[in-house]
Amino acid sequence: MAAESAHRSPTFSAKPPEAAVLSTMQDVPLLISRILTHGSTIHGGSQVITWTGEGAPQRRSFAEIGSRAAQLAHALHDDLGVRGDDRVATLMWNNAEHVEAYFAVPSMGAVLHTLNLRLPANQLAWIVGHASDRVIIANGSLLPLLGPLLPHLPGVEHVVVSGPGDRSVLEGASARVHEYEELLAGKPTTYDWPELDELQAAAMCYTSGTTGDPKGVVYSHRSVYLHSMQVNMAQSMGLTDADTSLVVVPQFHVNAWGLPHATFMTGVNMLMPDRFLQPGPLAEMIEAERPTHAAAVPTIWQGLLAELTAKPRDVSSLTQVTIGGSACPPALMAAFDELGMRVCHAWGMTETSPLGTIARPPAHAVGTDEEFAYRLTQGRFPAGVEARLSGPGGERLPWDGESAGELEVRGPWIAGAYFGGTDGEAFRPEDKFSADGWLKTGDVGTISHDGFLTLTDRAKDVIKSGGEWISSVDLENALMAHPDVAEAAVVAVPDDKWGERPLATVVLKEGATADFETLRAFLAERVAKWQLPERWTVIPAVPKTSVGKFDKKVIRKQYASGELDVTQI
Ligand code: AMP
Repeated sequence: MAAESAHRSPTFSAKPPEAAVLSTMQDVPLLISRILTHGSTIHGGSQVITWTGEGAPQRRSFAEIGSRAAQLAHALHDDLGVRGDDRVATLMWNNAEHVEAYFAVPSMGAVLHTLNLRLPANQLAWIVGHASDRVIIANGSLLPLLGPLLPHLPGVEHVVVSGPGDRSVLEGASARVHEYEELLAGKPTTYDWPELDELQAAAMCYTSGTTGDPKGVVYSHRSVYLHSMQVNMAQSMGLTDADTSLVVVPQFHVNAWGLPHATFMTGVNMLMPDRFLQPGPLAEMIEAERPTHAAAVPTIWQGLLAELTAKPRDVSSLTQVTIGGSACPPALMAAFDELGMRVCHAWGMTETSPLGTIARPPAHAVGTDEEFAYRLTQGRFPAGVEARLSGPGGERLPWDGESAGELEVRGPWIAGAYFGGTDGEAFRPEDKFSADGWLKTGDVGTISHDGFLTLTDRAKDVIKSGGEWISSVDLENALMAHPDVAEAAVVAVPDDKWGERPLATVVLKEGATADFETLRAFLAERVAKWQLPERWTVIPAVPKTSVGKFDKKVIRKQYASGELDVTQI
């Protein structure tokens, strides 16, 4: 991943013709170090507040984060020998030290690799090996996970431990073990950040790998910079230094949706939950620290809603909630509206940095009956994301709000390839990239005349019944609107007559009395009759992926192996 290999996608690069008038603008590379310098000086008084579970939260100003990021860079360079594009991984919760690593590692020219701490051990080991991570910075509380894994990570030379946790699990490790605070102590608080090529690798993140091996997406300084500007736009998250953002979305999940970088551009305070991600502590930190904004996947918000219903708290400060990662159920949006928390729905992927669309309703719809429907879509494409829909035969489909096809996107913060491993070339599998270089998202949906995306399914989750498509998401949303239903997941199962039919798996709320007939009748008022599931089952919880999304492949497997107690009606 040397600087030379930083590439402009061959499909899109255009050199000015010989006789062209040259621009008179300065060519200043868009670097993460510039975001850090800006945030830690101009917004030096803004804070990263990390929840500690007991006692006062830890408060660190952006100025301190800047100084400590410089100290960390010195430590990595001088003590650990990090050079060039070496990969420095993190196995950390959302906290101030993780933010320091976010800035120190790319700013010095190395590549930050955030590890998903919820992945199974064998996948983590594979990813660390594939990325050739030399250093891992880990939270002490995650050493029970890292300790047993280390013997399987021969390329890891150094482990740097931060925060509370029993270090003894690392005894006997072949990697050298360091204390984060000891490494930083006494180091200079400034660093002469190198002028890098803006196309150089800055950070990497592996897809959650629901099919096949996880794939590495490598962000450049330029892509991170441009994406951060987009996140900050009024029609995106639009936060200012008057805001505090509760960053629940993990820093290992697509750079916490770009928030750490974006907030350093604008001085937004960050409230970091560390490992306290359960609904109780989340409600407590909202009441105590009064954030104005929060970002997380729907599962987290479902949990918080149940918590607030059982034990009301003063959450009145929280007026804006960004929900993405999977579709926001309408019932959840309505319930949050009632609590005064306005949901803003967004769509994205690891491959899209992640901001791909965001559902701010157009001005003409605000205050009208159309507003809620606009907010429920996945949202509008920003200027930096071009989109098109591809039909089953690869034909372009119109933006008419009706024609459903696979979404393809391109833009300066959209992946054009996957990381091929240290010895391999970046690769572009045909099912993920079109011949002309667009990313095939695997998401199926429609786009309206005014550029609002509505996803009906993942390509692999859509139910193909007798030549017609049934949206599993529509059925789930309709089911989750029933007061007795806590969660619902619908998957395609084989059917002799129709090819595939929907199987409804339902999680009932405590004390719920609804039976399948009742739920089916409830659905019948909301979806076409031929879409109504015949197969029903109650499950204790919907299986979730490592980033909290419904894991439908597990349900399909459970059905195939006869593990589910299915009722036919
Ligand atoms: P990941 O790379 O793990 O973030 O997963 C990306 C995938 O999550 C997308 O391709 C979508 O299938 C799904 N996704 C993300 N945001 C949304 C959303 N707002 N609505 C529906 N699906 C979503």
